[in-house]
Amino acid sequence: MNRTCDVVIVGTGAAGLFCALNLPERMKILMITKETVEESDSFLAQGGICVLRGEEDYKDYFLDTMRAGHFENNEKIVELMIRSSNNVVRNLMHCGVQFDRTADGSLAYTREGGHSRPRILFHEDVTGREITATLLQRVRERSNIVMEEHTTMVDIIVQNDVCVGIVVVDAEGKLSCVQAPNVVLACGGLGGLFKNSTNMTHITGDALAIAIKHNVAVEYVDYIQVHPTTLYSKKPGRRFLISESVRGEGALLYDKNGQRFTDELQPRDLLTEAIWEQMKKDGTEFVWEDMRPIGREEILQHFPNIYQRCVDEGYDPLTEPIPVVPAQHYFMGGIKVDSASRTSMSGLYAVGETSCTGVHGRNRLASNSLLESLVFSQRAADDIAFKRDPGAVCDLKAVDLSEYQDLDAVFESYRKCLEHKVEGMRWGHE
Ligand SMILES: Cc1cc2nc3c(=O)[nH]c(=O)nc-3n(C[C@H](O)[C@H](O)[C@H](O)COP(=O)(O)OP(=O)(O)OC[C@H]3O[C@@H](n4cnc5c(N)ncnc54)[C@H](O)[C@@H]3O)c2cc1C
Repeated sequence: MNRTCDVVIVGTGAAGLFCALNLPERMKILMITKETVEESDSFLAQGGICVLRGEEDYKDYFLDTMRAGHFENNEKIVELMIRSSNNVVRNLMHCGVQFDRTADGSLAYTREGGHSRPRILFHEDVTGREITATLLQRVRERSNIVMEEHTTMVDIIVQNDVCVGIVVVDAEGKLSCVQAPNVVLACGGLGGLFKNSTNMTHITGDALAIAIKHNVAVEYVDYIQVHPTTLYSKKPGRRFLISESVRGEGALLYDKNGQRFTDELQPRDLLTEAIWEQMKKDGTEFVWEDMRPIGREEILQHFPNIYQRCVDEGYDPLTEPIPVVPAQHYFMGGIKVDSASRTSMSGLYAVGETSCTGVHGRNRLASNSLLESLVFSQRAADDIAFKRDPGAVCDLKAVDLSEYQDLDAVFESYRKCLEHKVEGMRWGHE
């Protein structure tokens, strides 16, 4: 059945949910997601979310972000994100998000690779779940927001060069249109296209392929981040992340002889190179990560889920090193947006990992992505709420759904399009 709303948001991860919550309650909002609302990469985030720890940390935080991104970052956007971080964190806590605290009740901070000091707020090793589940709860309380699961965006509807809605397919395979003057793409990254990735398998860069199809500007589509440390496994499927904060808290990396071979806290891309180099030298499929220097109590208190997963896979991090290997993790590129998350097409916004704000440059600094998602999805909401132009109305009679009858062929064409554009994907299919 065709529907009409003020805003349609594609994706129920942190970016989509925060955008919806920041829109006025007078607006009718429809959110859709390919799987269930709990199945997003936002739920998987382990390490935490960065925040500016007072003015004296500004210069260092800015430099850490720029250095990790090889100074290809957009400086103005980096500044905007860092300066907005306190507001976003306050907003999260107001929504009910609980961050870990020290014995005296003040906020606890952890550190990850590339950070010159601890400035990451966390909730055990499941920060993403804490943030996203809380936002989800708040969205459920809003009568102006409807969420539809197992509903997939197949295309955007473009009339007179303006985005006026989307085409969706529901769980029964029925196609329909959603008419909306504001379309927000919050579809996450593209890790599902890779053989080895920490991402959920249904996160396959659909929005990026659709943007390319309609000549919407995209940027840095070959900037793929590989995470240096995922738990080695021979089993197929998603790779389990061993968070960078594990190394931030003291874990060490060893070669096949149990010797350290690199600086564990260098930025992700450099560490990944060092690990690949060492694996090649040693003729192994992994290196070892030793969590024991962190200490038994801290492992069990700060990293209970990582600990349990390792035990389930047959390794006890309290008594032995665990095997780790790099895997695709994050997409720095995406649909090009301005500081209000507007794409090059009127009526169309992109937020979160789907978008490219320019904040990360060539390589994302750890724990900057949840922050980026929240800062710029709030800005998209502000832009939609305050704009004077009501937006264009979709002419449903002009929409021809017959081109989507063979959905497998449609999604195969998207995959092929990305395979040609995204350089790093070749690595994933080797
Ligand atoms: C294992 C792991 C650990 C991480 N740890 C951290 C961390 O500690 N700190 C940090 O800052 N970042 C971390 N990240 C990165 C961060 O989690 C993501 O970048 C961020 O959550 C992306 O949020 P999002 O809302 O943009 O997308 P997602 O949370 O991925 O949500 C995407 C949504 O889009 C939907 N969707 C996709 N395509 C379609 C379609 N065609 N139709 C309908 N719906 C669609 C999906 O179903 C989903 O609901 C981690 C990522 C992973 C995978």
